[in-house]
Amino acid sequence: MSNSNAGGTIAANLALVKERIRKAAESVGRDPASVELVAVSKTFGADAILEAIAAGQRAFGENRVQETEDKWPAIRERFPDVRVHLIGPLQRNKTKRAVTLFDAVETVDRARIARALADEMQAAERRIECFVEVNTGEEEQKSGVLPLDADAFIKECREVCGLSVAGLMCIPPQGEEPALHFALLREIAKRNGIEGLSMGMTADFETAIQFGATHVRVGTAIFGARTKAVESE
Ligand SMILES: *Cc1c(COP(=O)(O)O)cnc(C)c1O
Repeated sequence: MSNSNAGGTIAANLALVKERIRKAAESVGRDPASVELVAVSKTFGADAILEAIAAGQRAFGENRVQETEDKWPAIRERFPDVRVHLIGPLQRNKTKRAVTLFDAVETVDRARIARALADEMQAAERRIECFVEVNTGEEEQKSGVLPLDADAFIKECREVCGLSVAGLMCIPPQGEEPALHFALLREIAKRNGIEGLSMGMTADFETAIQFGATHVRVGTAIFGARTKAVESE
């Protein structure tokens, strides 16, 4: 039974999601602790985030630099051990802010951004994790490198831009079997010696875990349906 819509309190929803993560991991002989739950709090306010923190959640996902700048510095001051991942597109002129605001950027997909992140990290003397986003569905409107370009891009990140690649990330196309995309992402990671795999959202995180996800990005099942429109930058 998969209940994808959150119905209870945030603490109860978190407990349910963690239980589902445990079952999915154990179904394929994986240690549940090898899967990090990134709670996607975009559009939700500090009150909801603080509820999740009170329930023990420490990793969060946001998709906009500006929204993160508005919401997170005050929370971080109180809870220095929280980690925030950028899961939305990053523009070149926001890389400096991104390096101070985030602990991980999951959406590196252009050399300009990779180089800018590497430079800003050096300038700020702060290292954050970088994931390369792969457009596994080859969708025109989506960001991410095409699967065919992934190996060359990862090499360029490492050798030309001086960026170490902690993982790969994908968002499978709506209405398609996500397993095929998760398998493809895992394959690209494997042949490039990359350990991190950020894949799986509310609708499909259990499948993603079966295909090796190390990070699942779950919003709706924790915080409920988003009523505010998700703006893009
Ligand atoms: C919003 C979002 C999620 C969370 O989606 P849910 O279906 O609410 O779990 C995960 N990943 C990315 C990139 C997102 O933008």
